[in-house]
Amino acid sequence: MKVISGSKVIYKFTHDMEHVESIIPKEVVKVESNDCFFQQIVREDQVMTEIDYDKLNPATGPIYVEGAEPGDLLKVKILDINVADKGVAAAVPGEGALGDQVNNSTIRIIDIEDGYAIFKGVKLPIKPMIGVIGVAPAVEDGNWPTETPWKHGGNMDTTDIKKGSTLYFPVNQNGALLALGDCHAVMGDGELCFTGLEIPAEVLLEVDVIKEKTIEWPLVETEEHTMVIASGEDLEEALYSATNEAVKYIMNSLKLEWEDAYILASLSVDLKISQVVDPKKTIRAAIPKDVVPTERIIESLK
Ligand code: CA
Ligand code: ZN
Repeated sequence: MKVISGSKVIYKFTHDMEHVESIIPKEVVKVESNDCFFQQIVREDQVMTEIDYDKLNPATGPIYVEGAEPGDLLKVKILDINVADKGVAAAVPGEGALGDQVNNSTIRIIDIEDGYAIFKGVKLPIKPMIGVIGVAPAVEDGNWPTETPWKHGGNMDTTDIKKGSTLYFPVNQNGALLALGDCHAVMGDGELCFTGLEIPAEVLLEVDVIKEKTIEWPLVETEEHTMVIASGEDLEEALYSATNEAVKYIMNSLKLEWEDAYILASLSVDLKISQVVDPKKTIRAAIPKDVVPTERIIESLK
């Protein structure tokens, strides 16, 4: 099995990134993922302003997938996420939903024991997830720092990007050029204070190509839902894009009038907040598979 070293990272998703490895469809690959601070934080008494901010949000890769061409979908199944035995969380003045109330920059190193993160006597079952994952953007979309989520993926910080889930990305460049980083051992929807439990990890992926199907925003398929992950300047803009896509998918796959698809979406689709702390905010619209199976949505794509 190919292993993509955590020393090979990017800080920007660009249309002309140089790949570090290539794989064939259905190949399983192991990716070494750095934490979002590139492991620069090891003690609670470190000063946040002394870390190198140019090294935030490294994404390992990119990986060239043979046969993936613009106009295709990249299908990425997350087989496993093995996190390290400790991680970092932080509160930083001005950051997060209540940034105005943070007086002291506060770093916490949190141990993981037997599948639990132990913090202040509270045992949280870990739910490992990938914060940053994406592909090369379209040329007209420009370059995207790894800290920002957009149509190519990036810093989507979505709790459903977890073991057992399958992601779908639009392929914009030959080889798709997949990269990932910023795993969290656990996080609540929203990532409200600015970090999850930031942690290095080894991620096992199975990557495949679906020819000649396109999507505007990434999808994540879980056991029960197909979720559109959309981002915008604020939650309203993200919500509009996610809802717009979800209604379109329901309309096209069930061959309904738009208004009926809109009503059916209102009866069945859950809107969830992914994150409120990155340069763009992220919402996901979760379409139940018993309303329309994922395969049917994919089939109906053009
Ligand atoms: Ca993140
Ligand atoms: Zn993170």
